[in-house]
Amino acid sequence: MIPFLDMKSVYAELKTELDAAYARVMESGWYVLGKEVEAFEGEYAAFCGTQHCVSVGNGLEALELVLRAWNVGPGDEVIVPSNTYIATWLAVTAVGATVVPVEPTANGPNLDPERLATAITPRTKAIMPVHLYGEPADMDAIMALANKHGLKVIEDVAQAQGSKVRGRRAGSLGQAGAHSFFPTKNIGAFGDGGAVTTDDGAVADRMRALRNYGSRVKYVNIERGFNSRLDEMQAAFLRVKLKHLDRWNEQRRTVAARYDDRLAGIPGLVLPRVPQWAEPVWHLYVVQTPRRAELMKALDAAGIGALIHYPIPPHLQEAYGDLGFPKGSFPLAERLAETVLSLPMGPHLKPDAIDKVAEVVRRALETN
Ligand SMILES: *Cc1c(COP(=O)(O)O)cnc(C)c1O
Repeated sequence: MIPFLDMKSVYAELKTELDAAYARVMESGWYVLGKEVEAFEGEYAAFCGTQHCVSVGNGLEALELVLRAWNVGPGDEVIVPSNTYIATWLAVTAVGATVVPVEPTANGPNLDPERLATAITPRTKAIMPVHLYGEPADMDAIMALANKHGLKVIEDVAQAQGSKVRGRRAGSLGQAGAHSFFPTKNIGAFGDGGAVTTDDGAVADRMRALRNYGSRVKYVNIERGFNSRLDEMQAAFLRVKLKHLDRWNEQRRTVAARYDDRLAGIPGLVLPRVPQWAEPVWHLYVVQTPRRAELMKALDAAGIGALIHYPIPPHLQEAYGDLGFPKGSFPLAERLAETVLSLPMGPHLKPDAIDKVAEVVRRALETN
């Protein structure tokens, strides 16, 4: 059996450090907004190369609270990828703004800057590129357009913590970056968590109030806020894991390179192609094939976990039925939804497991 993602190995590897973090927080008697959160925020900002980090309850709320801190709301348009996890869209519609979906590039999963240019209108307030599967979007082109039109850019870094564009970390490339620490992400908590990274001190200050009932001073509420906080326990666990993130991402790159090698030349199988300027962190290793159903069956029969990210694009979800995007509105996103398959990936995936997966894929697709 080869699981899609091996979650238990992380605890096995870091048990001593994680257990010590647990004991430290339990014995402190302080569980929300304390020293661990403050320390983690400093360490994570340093890791990302930003001046500020504000931790929040999860990745969705990180995206949403940035839009609120920027006063994005009804009547405003936010450009989002047609090919993304639904959370990206949910953040925009949560603040009452309008999603303007833009298709991905022909060869990759991320926002196509050329199509982006044609989607900008006088109502556009922000662009929300997603670094999907751990592959950074074309931030140089996106920022050039944003600067030309006076738009703000919030990166959705949920799948790409540690990735770089020409040496600079994701989360430091736009005016804000929204991060998720859901357990399966490249750096995940043992529960929910999220954060915003930014160089904008005023936005960071407002986020600190927004996440805590709109309050800076206890029982003094300067605006109508929310309850969206990372707790001390998760912050303590994340401090332990952050020290290992670059090494784990390096291990993911080794896994991806071995997949590239072992899966080369299989008929009807498209492998991920990452642009030269990007340093990906391989949150997922996503192949494409028109024969996906057969391939999934073969992997399942061999005891190999494989998943589809994502089977239904946001515009075809019932949740967005009222937006009036019929099938065929975003053909590239729709084709990806029909052909993508994520193979097992993670820092603890062993070379013989990779070879086994590749062998099953080859056998399934080389027979007619
Ligand atoms: C996981 C994810 C989110 C949301 O993060 P949560 O912490 O689960 O709220 C947002 N965007 C993308 C692309 C994600 O993969």
